[in-house]
Amino acid sequence: MKTPPRMSRLLIVGSVAFDDLELPTGKHDNVWGGSASYAALAASLFTPIDLVAVIGEDFPESQLDTMRRHGVRTEGVERAKGKSFRWAGRYDATLSTRVTLDTQLNVFADFRPKIPGAARRAPFVLLGNIHPALQLEVLEQVEKPRLVVADTMNFWITGEPATLKKLLERVDVLVINDEEARQLGDHHNVSRAAANIRKMGPKHLVVKRGEFGALLFDPEGTFFAPAYPLEDVLDPTGAGDTFAGGFLGYLAHVDAVGGSVDRAAFRRAIVAGSALASFCVEDVGPNRLLTMTGQNLRDRLGAFKALVHVEHELDALTFLR
Ligand code: AMP
Repeated sequence: MKTPPRMSRLLIVGSVAFDDLELPTGKHDNVWGGSASYAALAASLFTPIDLVAVIGEDFPESQLDTMRRHGVRTEGVERAKGKSFRWAGRYDATLSTRVTLDTQLNVFADFRPKIPGAARRAPFVLLGNIHPALQLEVLEQVEKPRLVVADTMNFWITGEPATLKKLLERVDVLVINDEEARQLGDHHNVSRAAANIRKMGPKHLVVKRGEFGALLFDPEGTFFAPAYPLEDVLDPTGAGDTFAGGFLGYLAHVDAVGGSVDRAAFRRAIVAGSALASFCVEDVGPNRLLTMTGQNLRDRLGAFKALVHVEHELDALTFLR
């Protein structure tokens, strides 16, 4: 495989935040978070990134430096007067459910995304979880992207349904969790909800099911990949954004080296996203994404392959009735 060119092919827009996390292991305040932070750090393992977001006066320059060291271009990160976006959440003892305790938009309330010149031509665009009106504004500024991937959450599904509908008409791949899929698709059965959502615009729908893996619904059928089973999970925050960043980062890489972004690549991208998400949950905030290496990811992808490998003889049981 050729080395990918050093131009940025993936534009990521989303929140950069401070999170206050209540985990079974303790309370952590002012943790670096935000949908775009996780997505950009994950995708940066595969390809250079252009990040567009807004931060407040309180956001440390050192964290932007860390992003840049990871191959994330930050020209599109605007520092505005006021406080950064802040989110607070509490997890239950098993880490399987969480409640949002507080969402403070702060500088996001007046944010108008401005996409830097070169990033407007990025063929791959990831619209991280932010107000759907801002996601639409980004699409107004980019020139014919090949693939637009969007994430959203219940906060916007219930709060901004009309704007979200407009956005969905222009999205190729929607990435949401199963609870959100049921809500948006208006059906308790995830497959039926997925069919309803795909009628709203996105040809592809990825449904994240946390520790139970991820489903891909597309015009040809359904694909499933498990989440990697881990003994020690510390903090699931950002796993969904990490998944989305890994998914699209991988596809941008495939394209950059001349591969085809086809159904098989989408399936591999689901596994790449799941593998990256399995690192994210191993430590608090994005810490593990900062320390992991390409070799760590290669090793886990190998473990993933072994996890789902089935001898082909299974479908040749000739004695069956
Ligand atoms: P995830 O665990 O993948 O759902 O993502 C959690 C991250 O999303 C946290 O770091 C939050 O800062 C960020 N977040 C939570 N709510 C919102 C929101 N309404 N808009 C933008 N980002 C959000």
